[in-house]
Amino acid sequence: MVVATKKRAIPEIVINEAWCKKCGICIATCPTKVFEAKKDGFPLVVRGDACTWCDLCELKCPDFAIVLRGDRHAQG
Ligand code: SF4
Ligand code: SF4
Repeated sequence: MVVATKKRAIPEIVINEAWCKKCGICIATCPTKVFEAKKDGFPLVVRGDACTWCDLCELKCPDFAIVLRGDRHAQG
């Protein structure tokens, strides 16, 4: 029997550079390596499709500079 699985929708990951202090916590914390540091030190979303909506980046950012937008329950 073949079981079809659907992938969850990809979030829009918004980084507010006005609030970000380039601490790198989000880059180090993300279990699926969604972020990399840009040359100027700000985090950049490079693998948004790997995001599992675990919320760690939002929860661990000390400056509330990351927001995940979208419907985490939507099936893509
Ligand atoms: S954890 Fe927050 S403040 Fe630190 S680099 Fe990431 S977005 Fe910026
Ligand atoms: S929600 Fe989790 S998987 Fe998605 S970018 Fe943040 S830390 Fe990474």
